[in-house]
Amino acid sequence: MEMYRSAERLRKLPPYLFKEIDRKKEEVRARGVDIIDLGVGDPDLPTPPHIVEAMKKALDDSSNHQYPSYSGMHRFRETVARWYGERFGVDLDPQTEVVSLIGSKEGIAHFPLAFIDPGDVALVPTPAYPVYHIGTLFAGGESYFLPLVAENDFLPDLEAIPGAVREKARVLFINYPNNPTAATADPAFFERVVAFAREHGIIVCHDAAYTELTFDGYMPPSFLQAPGAKDVGIEFHSLSKTYNMTGWRIGFAVGNREAVQGLGAVKSNVDSGVFQAVQWAAIEAIEGDQACVAEMRKVYQERRDLMVEGLRKAGFELAAPRATFYLWVRVPQGYTSARLATRLLEEAGVVVTPGNGFGEPGEGYFRIALTRTRERMAEALERLQGLSL
Ligand SMILES: *Cc1c(COP(=O)(O)O)cnc(C)c1O
Repeated sequence: MEMYRSAERLRKLPPYLFKEIDRKKEEVRARGVDIIDLGVGDPDLPTPPHIVEAMKKALDDSSNHQYPSYSGMHRFRETVARWYGERFGVDLDPQTEVVSLIGSKEGIAHFPLAFIDPGDVALVPTPAYPVYHIGTLFAGGESYFLPLVAENDFLPDLEAIPGAVREKARVLFINYPNNPTAATADPAFFERVVAFAREHGIIVCHDAAYTELTFDGYMPPSFLQAPGAKDVGIEFHSLSKTYNMTGWRIGFAVGNREAVQGLGAVKSNVDSGVFQAVQWAAIEAIEGDQACVAEMRKVYQERRDLMVEGLRKAGFELAAPRATFYLWVRVPQGYTSARLATRLLEEAGVVVTPGNGFGEPGEGYFRIALTRTRERMAEALERLQGLSL
């Protein structure tokens, strides 16, 4: 018997579906198997040196040692606004339409506290990054799940949402380029989202963590480029994937003033902003030489090409993505996602993520992250090609 009853919001957390695979991974590792972990969505490449240097310099300046501004240094918000103008052609007021985040996960998780009351609904894609649903749950809201399926290019079917749900819905989460499906969305989809949100008074939360992690010269749009998007939406951005800065914890949210200010009001009562030295590093990342981004894209593109070709040769069915460092692969006939992941782990020492762990419609898929070297990926492929599935 546990001594303390945990709060309902913790008891309501969905079961952690990767527990079984985590346990098996440790079991296989303990047997001395050389495990190749293609499960983790965390870049293996280091943060570029000029960004690390900017942080070191900022550390020596004692004016950076005090509490930062809640919403981010003005200089940081200006940098973000300028980048949005250049990259997307979107105009932002750095004073009121930009807020710094302690990583975009932090902002996404806190956003529902600003706009969801108990009984309200959030429209949440599935399979998806788990934070949309959990942030909603923590705010006392309910998620209405929007299945992302291949037949609909992994875009939510907004037409299929019942009228009663639309009435209770306050927030719609979307994420393109998408984790885990690696799908992308075109401007026409974002335009449909704007019309839907406007009709029903819904705030759109677009998670744009992967807009810079792209291949073959593809440049994904920002949601805020859609006409009228700034009237209805907020976009969450991250330096984590673009500059290999997952450990630094910095991101930002931009867009609709009320949405940004609402999130800021929650945050100013929960945290005290981002360490200024980290903000200076982020300014250097955004304003400095972008050759590191081109190099990062090249590295992942080579890995993608190697892996897509090798997996197809091994008999797997998958699309070659044009963004994100994920591959969303069909499970062969006769397997569930969990059974296949277990078999790859036990017989090949290769860790993949079973698709159902991201939500029920992910059943029948597994996710591979391109976050290991080419040599390790080639080794993984060799092992997979040796299995008869
Ligand atoms: C990695 C990732 C993020 C970024 O998280 P940070 O907190 O900025 O490190 C956000 N959304 C998705 C879908 C991701 O995969």
